[in-house]
Amino acid sequence: MRLTVIGTGYLGAVHAACMADIGHEVLGVDIDAEKIAALSEARVPFFEPGLQEVLGKAVGSGRLHFTTSLEEAAEFGDVHFICVSTPQCRDSPAADLRAVDAVIDGLAPQLRRRCLIVGKSTVPAGTTARLAMRVREQAPEGTDVEVAWNPEFLREGFAVQDTLRPDRLVAGVLSQRADRILREVYAPLVRAGVPYISTDPATAELVKVAANSFLATKISFINAMAEVCDATGADVMSLSEALGYDPRIGRRFLSAGLGFGGGCLPKDIRAFTARADELGVGSAVSFLREIDEINARQRRRTVDIARDMLGGTLAARRIAVLGATFKPDTDDVRDSPALAVAAAIHREGAEVAVHDPEGMDNARAVLPKLDYVPDVDKACLGADLVLHLTEWSDYRRIDPGALAVVTPARKILDARNALDASLWRSAGWTLRALGRPAQP
Ligand code: NAD
Repeated sequence: MRLTVIGTGYLGAVHAACMADIGHEVLGVDIDAEKIAALSEARVPFFEPGLQEVLGKAVGSGRLHFTTSLEEAAEFGDVHFICVSTPQCRDSPAADLRAVDAVIDGLAPQLRRRCLIVGKSTVPAGTTARLAMRVREQAPEGTDVEVAWNPEFLREGFAVQDTLRPDRLVAGVLSQRADRILREVYAPLVRAGVPYISTDPATAELVKVAANSFLATKISFINAMAEVCDATGADVMSLSEALGYDPRIGRRFLSAGLGFGGGCLPKDIRAFTARADELGVGSAVSFLREIDEINARQRRRTVDIARDMLGGTLAARRIAVLGATFKPDTDDVRDSPALAVAAAIHREGAEVAVHDPEGMDNARAVLPKLDYVPDVDKACLGADLVLHLTEWSDYRRIDPGALAVVTPARKILDARNALDASLWRSAGWTLRALGRPAQP
């Protein structure tokens, strides 16, 4: 089939490459000419494990091309996937849908062939119906075009495997024809056993925000428990292990720490509350505001513990920050808890040296005033305190004895509960963590 993928960021670039990988003819479209130039040369313009291989193979096969022209896209596609950004509005918790609208406004008037427009971006319930009207108003008379929603659940860091072997596919469709087309697009995945759920567009839109709301709730739940652990001397790691053995609860997404961030969870739960308010059911999901607040509190708690470890002030103290991205295995720093903490301690007068395996360029673009050091030892040189803020596996492999040579103060705050506390302590470090006793 001939597919276009409009918006070639973390989601779209992966989707385009993977759709070509399973045999479709694909045209990737973006307004960012630099990104399109890189992708056309089979270069991935961001960090995503495994994408380089799939992209290289797809471009090499001649099945994947890129353009900045929606006119070309309109001529080419049987199916148009919309994968553009839907960030939070600057002045409200609602989703900013201007990019999605711009795609529709650019594409619809140019459509001449029978096609299906399929949204993958995360959007508020009701968006498909609104866009279907917008398409009808602008598409040339007699053009056979329909709109459907097929939300995306991929995780950065695992995006290729999540696209080629997702937990499930959800198709929000208004007709059997749209359903048939989407089943055909994903036929190799469905044949391999991926569950395919066909439903109406509003449900499909809701599945995505409900899933993210549940995940955010799980994280904030265990972080709230960590706060209680701190007050009682209990250990949140043992608590979550014991809870997780209950299959009704499950161990995943039950790790206490600095909380969630990134370009999805925070803005998605806020957009959900905003949309629920509009629909008059705000009170049904008002708990999500508390989830968001618990999450924000973990960033403040981390700064408070850091200050406490340095005797009450951060001013003029040298602090090494390990991790800038919102989670490991990505270079994405959107709403990164690590960067929020780094910025907060810098505001309190600390000298901050940041290390991250992949996210330094993006971090520097957001917080240019911090010091970025491409080597862990150099970042930690003479540090009064080390903050472990993103759980890259590289940091678990640090030898605390060797690091102590350059960091005589030997103080570390593991805000991700990912380091081996006994190993660090036996090397003479004072290690604190969220939700764990200060001493073993
Ligand atoms: P992104 O910012 O990495 O990519 C968006 C891309 O869209 C950019 O390359 C941008 O240049 C392009 N774009 C913006 N306006 C455009 C326009 N008018 N025409 C063509 N291209 C345009 O964002 P992302 O992380 O890929 O997220 C995209 C959507 O997917 C969001 O709704 C997000 O919530 C959702 N999503 C993201 C992930 C993820 O892990 N990143 C997972 C699931 C869902």
